[in-house]
Amino acid sequence: MSDKFGKLKALVVEDSKVAIRAITGYLEEIGVQPMIAETGSAAVELYRKERPDIILLDIILPDIDGYEVAKQVRKLQGKDDWTAIIFLSVMSKDDDLARGIQAGGDDYLMKPVGRVVLQAKVAAMYRLVRMQRALVKLTEQLNEANQELHRISLIDGLTGIANRRLFDETLVREWRRCARLQKPISIVMLDVDFFKKYNDKYGHQAGDECLKTIAKQVASAVPRASDLAARYGGEEFVLILSETDEEGARRVANRIRQMVVGLKMVHEDSQHGYITLSCGVSSVLPGEELSVDKLVKSADNALYLAKKHGRNAVAYLNYGQGD
Ligand code: GH3
Ligand code: MG
Ligand code: MG
Ligand code: MG
Repeated sequence: MSDKFGKLKALVVEDSKVAIRAITGYLEEIGVQPMIAETGSAAVELYRKERPDIILLDIILPDIDGYEVAKQVRKLQGKDDWTAIIFLSVMSKDDDLARGIQAGGDDYLMKPVGRVVLQAKVAAMYRLVRMQRALVKLTEQLNEANQELHRISLIDGLTGIANRRLFDETLVREWRRCARLQKPISIVMLDVDFFKKYNDKYGHQAGDECLKTIAKQVASAVPRASDLAARYGGEEFVLILSETDEEGARRVANRIRQMVVGLKMVHEDSQHGYITLSCGVSSVLPGEELSVDKLVKSADNALYLAKKHGRNAVAYLNYGQGD
């Protein structure tokens, strides 16, 4: 009975030499490697070092009893080294069995232990060990897959930057944090100018490439961990700038606007000759009676102003303005 992880190891915890001899003999017959502990504390120590697959555990021992050994083993056990515990005892009252299971045992064997029953139980327990360990591995893989799914659900598929959902989540969190700190928070909405014409002229694929390039620029402009650059939708991007006032936010918006102009992405059907951005900025000192949505709306209204002022521009509105 061995698998690719090597030979199956069984720890025999027993203080009777006669019982030890019999049990180890039966185990060796089926290819199981026995280890012997004659006291409870020696058993715990051996468990710690050897991590056996199965423990055959006598209840009455010279020092701590088998129940205590089982409890300590269960405490030491990691998530990928689950061990089956079979109690051995001459006692045959149902209470002892219940107590053994409660202490972390999986099965119970009456002494004196016979060959056929012991070998059958060890085989059954080994199956249990393998299933339990496979289950732990599967659970881990599921957890990893779930984490990856969660991560993917917050990323925009085209540009690889944060999506609208992550923006919404982050904004609520940063809003609260800034409120606690009594620091302003700013929103910058960025919209590509004449992008419909760009698609019409150069094709949708070129449009996608253009959005990816802009996303990279926008994301690189907000290196602070508490800030966020996200794709708001279509050809619109948005920034959350925490602990940032009007002046700071305007500066960031202008820098991005200039950086995108500097990319010189040719756009013949734009009055500027290149791809440009319009930006709307709004800032506020967040508080209980104010709303996140209204701040975003104000930034959006400011963006409309920037468009009206000829595009390739940054406009600012106070919280609640422009409605
Ligand atoms: P304005 O300067 O007023 O913002 O004009 P605009 O043409 O940029 O604005 P409009 O809202 O009329 O058009 C936005 C265009 O953006 C329309 C749509 O085809 C394009 N667009 C939105 N999402 C994507 C995308 O994922 N890929 C590509 N290639 N184009 C997109
Ligand atoms: Mg004993
Ligand atoms: Mg738009
Ligand atoms: Mg646009």
